Amino acid sequence: MISEKLISELDAIKEPGLLMKELFTRFPGRTAIGTSGQLTGCALIDFAVQAKAPGIRVFTNDTLRLFPETLDLFQALEKRYGLTLERYTPPEAELKAMVEEYGEFLFFDSKERQELCCYVRKVLPNQRALNTLDVWITGLRSDQSSSRSGVGRFEIIDHPLGAQTRPILKVAPLADWKEADVREYLKKNKVPVHALLEKKLPGGWYYESLGCILCTTPIGPYEPRRAGRWRWFNTGDDKKECGLHLPPPKK
Ligand code: SF4
Repeated sequence: MISEKLISELDAIKEPGLLMKELFTRFPGRTAIGTSGQLTGCALIDFAVQAKAPGIRVFTNDTLRLFPETLDLFQALEKRYGLTLERYTPPEAELKAMVEEYGEFLFFDSKERQELCCYVRKVLPNQRALNTLDVWITGLRSDQSSSRSGVGRFEIIDHPLGAQTRPILKVAPLADWKEADVREYLKKNKVPVHALLEKKLPGGWYYESLGCILCTTPIGPYEPRRAGRWRWFNTGDDKKECGLHLPPPKK
């Protein structure tokens, strides 16, 4: 049962792989790692496999606008770990209605329309994944942006169930890891990594955080980590969330 008591029991397990093994064991078939192919998600898969967690499920939200390199990474992860990533795509009716009303490129129009696009292409698929889960394992880390600075290892969220809600345990096993630690782990364990996150560009520019093709650019050496997302809005680091970890947007 998802409860504060469960969290206090789990909090005693500090090692990420053992924590996930416990979760996959306690909630068989109802626990999954959600990843968009960022560094931490790849590390989590490796941790879970190395810990011999039973019945590992991994899912991703395929917006149908991902970089080819992201799709290549998913294939590499599947091959390396013998897993099949579950892909959740946008619901056809909502996608069609959105595109008919606002066009394919609505995210350039306003922050509200970008949030709507993310809602249809990312949040709704994610909700379909969460419909099958009691435990959602994420790669969130507190050093990723100012809006994520308060991220802890455990959180109970309310997930819609008809007119009611039900609790889901959201777990971020590497919440307090720094990016350098994650990179070191990935290198040491020869984990497949997104090709764009490894790429060095002229002038010290690089990809830090990857989303959909048109909405992601590299960042400069002194820019905030999520500056490459929806660059045309020129909003703060705390306004650079796609909505997966936020309440639904207004239309
Ligand atoms: Fe739409 Fe861009 Fe969000 Fe992808 S990142 S869902 S294309 S607004």
